[in-house]
Amino acid sequence: MYDVLVIGNGLIGSAAAKYLSGTDLKVAIAGPLEPTDWASHSGVFASHYDEGRITRMLDPDPLWAELGRRAIHAYLEIERESGLQFFHPGGCLKVAPDTPQFAELHASLEAVRDRLNLTTCEPLRSAELQERFPYFALSGHTGMLESGTAGHISPRALVQAQTRIAQKRGATLVPSHVERLEVNSESVTAWCASGAQIQAERVLVSSGAFTNGVLPTPLDFELQLRIVLFAELDEAEATRLQDMPDLILEFADHPTLRDVYVLPPIRYPDGTNLLKIGGEPLSPRVPSTQDELKAWFRTGECPDEVEPLKDTLLALIPDLRTTTFHTKPCVLTYTPTNRPYLDTVVPKRLFVAAGGCGLSAKSSDAIGNLAAQLTHRGGWEVPEGSLLRPEAFRIPQVSETRAA
Ligand SMILES: Cc1cc2nc3c(=O)[nH]c(=O)nc-3n(C[C@H](O)[C@H](O)[C@H](O)COP(=O)(O)OP(=O)(O)OC[C@H]3O[C@@H](n4cnc5c(N)ncnc54)[C@H](O)[C@@H]3O)c2cc1C
Repeated sequence: MYDVLVIGNGLIGSAAAKYLSGTDLKVAIAGPLEPTDWASHSGVFASHYDEGRITRMLDPDPLWAELGRRAIHAYLEIERESGLQFFHPGGCLKVAPDTPQFAELHASLEAVRDRLNLTTCEPLRSAELQERFPYFALSGHTGMLESGTAGHISPRALVQAQTRIAQKRGATLVPSHVERLEVNSESVTAWCASGAQIQAERVLVSSGAFTNGVLPTPLDFELQLRIVLFAELDEAEATRLQDMPDLILEFADHPTLRDVYVLPPIRYPDGTNLLKIGGEPLSPRVPSTQDELKAWFRTGECPDEVEPLKDTLLALIPDLRTTTFHTKPCVLTYTPTNRPYLDTVVPKRLFVAAGGCGLSAKSSDAIGNLAAQLTHRGGWEVPEGSLLRPEAFRIPQVSETRAA
């Protein structure tokens, strides 16, 4: 019998398991390894099967900025304790057309920068953007550059690092997905696809897009099925663009996209140099069942999303020399509050940390830390002036039930 079982060894779950195993608790983590052949895989998938996620403190929402700052401050210690490097501080540039439509966005970025005293952030006008980043065509745009504290992380390496630390601290990893959960008054029992049966006093569910496949009652998530486009670069082109920061670009009037993000060239495990672009569609594709979600990962192709991403990339970096393009399917998990859920589902037994809202790779260490405290002690201390209050992360459905 374990004190705590964490279901889901992804970005949030591995961080939570690390913090839980740093206490006197006996901790288990259940979560499958990354599938090797997506096309024939019948189990669950995840949002961390990649080498690049943007990381930054600056965000127009001060709560996300605070989560980002807390998490980024922990990176060096995680790298030191695990012996694995995952953070590449190449900077992040957030830009939008220099029009009144985006005045509020620019003002909120400046307000957050001042509130958190983010001294690594500087506003840049169109001419400065052109001068500092000559490979980008950003005329008529203005933005904010965060250096030093921003860049990209390898989500795979971060999960590996957190898991390694959790295991060093005594956590047991069960490399299988949970198929069924039974909650009773004394404990919770989880049945894994491998046949393993795990009993724990408390369970934290952090299974990303598959969280509702584990919980007894589904929660309100919006899953968005998307693709990312990779451009393969030869060695010379990857070297030319190696100092490129991440870019987040807002559109004023794109017919299909609200915004796009671009990561600098990253060397992938197969030796290729890939530059990645993804974006938020104006009309997202939403699965209606978990089977549809799995099928998307197995076969997901979406020709009508490829061209807008390709056109945007080539307009942004007009002289980009690329050999080939390819795409990958992925999923993002949103909550109606646009904050992750960190809440109790069954008092003293079942807890949830899920709903990354497209921003939780960079912030996962901070979210996992709060989730660990919630699961261990039923809540966390809120320092003076902090926005990370439990109410900000409540599940509306569960709050309504509590109030009734
Ligand atoms: C293409 C893409 C780009 C993104 N870009 C960024 C970015 O630039 N910056 C950023 O901060 N965030 C970004 N995100 C979001 C970020 O990746 C997610 O917010 C983050 O992965 C959420 O972490 P999680 O732990 O909730 O889910 P995941 O990382 O998906 O982990 C969930 C884990 O649960 C496991 N699991 C599922 N079902 C079960 C089960 N039944 N039993 C046991 N285990 C189970 C899965 O195997 C997985 O390991 C991006 C996401 C995508 C898809």
